[in-house]
Amino acid sequence: MADRTIDCDILIVGGGIGGSGLAAGLRHRGYSIVVVEASKDPLDTARGDHIQPVVVEILDRWGCLKTFMDRGAEKRFGTRYMTATGDLILDCPLQDLPLPHPYYLVFHHEMIGQAFMDLAHENKNFTLIRPAWGRDFDVADGVVTALHVKLPDGGDAVIRPKLVVGADGRSSQVRKLLGFATEDYEYQSPLVMLTAPRNMPDPRNNIGAFLGAKGMTFRIPRMNNQWKFSIPIDQADIPWWKASTMDDRRAFMKERTPALGDLEISIIGYYPCKLANCTQWVRGNVVLIGDAANSLHPAHGQGMNIALRNCAALIGFLPAPDKIKDVAAVRAALARFESVQKPIMTRVLDGNHQRALEMDNRDPQAIMNVIPFYAGIQADPAKRHLFTWLTTGYPPPQPGAPKAT
Ligand SMILES: Cc1cc2nc3c(=O)[nH]c(=O)nc-3n(C[C@H](O)[C@H](O)[C@H](O)COP(=O)(O)OP(=O)(O)OC[C@H]3O[C@@H](n4cnc5c(N)ncnc54)[C@H](O)[C@@H]3O)c2cc1C
Repeated sequence: MADRTIDCDILIVGGGIGGSGLAAGLRHRGYSIVVVEASKDPLDTARGDHIQPVVVEILDRWGCLKTFMDRGAEKRFGTRYMTATGDLILDCPLQDLPLPHPYYLVFHHEMIGQAFMDLAHENKNFTLIRPAWGRDFDVADGVVTALHVKLPDGGDAVIRPKLVVGADGRSSQVRKLLGFATEDYEYQSPLVMLTAPRNMPDPRNNIGAFLGAKGMTFRIPRMNNQWKFSIPIDQADIPWWKASTMDDRRAFMKERTPALGDLEISIIGYYPCKLANCTQWVRGNVVLIGDAANSLHPAHGQGMNIALRNCAALIGFLPAPDKIKDVAAVRAALARFESVQKPIMTRVLDGNHQRALEMDNRDPQAIMNVIPFYAGIQADPAKRHLFTWLTTGYPPPQPGAPKAT
């Protein structure tokens, strides 16, 4: 017998970016919401920290953008592809595009999660249960009727939701326990993520993608005058990285990408790269979002952005608060969400996988072959405009677009 019974409209399992973002986006819409989050620690700072222009517009619509800016979010105005010695191959400036927000936001991952969670508390019917696990569900006729949780004070609670969102990340328990199938792909090359203080100015705060015979190096702006680097490596090289000194890392980077100069590099993590795409996002009154629905290769900065775009789309399909007790209305709304949004995201995910394969393939010749492809885009203003446009997350302005992020 539970110590507490909590009735709610929407139960969100997982308070990462997807779960906290959805709770923030819903905060003024009249729903009672419970988030169950397993960890009491902040989110991993190495993960998604670049927010696409299309998602900046969503943040603005949700009334979250001002909070992000007030807490120190910075703007990034483009991407530059260069050779390892710094010659320009392709320049993709964002600020001339006719968009409401022609820039990326750069904001530490854990600060994004915290900002969303703080905003979610503006809903007087919001409850965060943390730390607590979402894995003990009652299911009847394909519908989740209850979640049993151990509360942080040691007591037991039963949560009785009308709609359940699985936002519990790449190893999702909701996905496993409720029988969602995935299509998987294991990439060969893990990523090592590095940071360093900036050693040169960049007023446009670009991503620098350096292509050379020794491999691809992404120099990614971080807040507070830092760079982050993402480098695909051989699994067998991880012990070298773990034992490496500052001098080893400085020499490694100078040899691989001379354009970067001297850098004081620290390691922030190693990431195996695995794709897991759910064949369905919805079952009964349960919907998956974020990495629970689609875990993708991190290299092209899309997992968090897709999660937030799907949250925004889902909000548009939800039954009104006074209709959410109707199980048939919930099922129909989730099915409509999936039928409209999943095909859109499948195209984005397919593009991400193709580019991830390019990065995963550390064959020097394959990398060098990408250079003329990008140079051809740079030479053609219409192609360059389209390529830049596609990095924003907005749908292409015209058919026949080349592949891009
Ligand atoms: C190195 C790296 C760099 C990246 N860079 C970018 C980028 O620049 N841009 C971008 O868009 N994406 C990026 N991504 C991807 C992005 O970080 C993820 O797609 C995104 O954070 C997924 O959010 P989520 O809420 O779905 O999952 P998560 O952030 O994993 O959150 C899941 C949450 O659920 C909790 N949880 C797990 N199981 C349970 C349970 N059973 N019960 C309760 N709680 C549970 C976890 O504690 C966690 O807090 C990157 C990823 C990596 C690894």
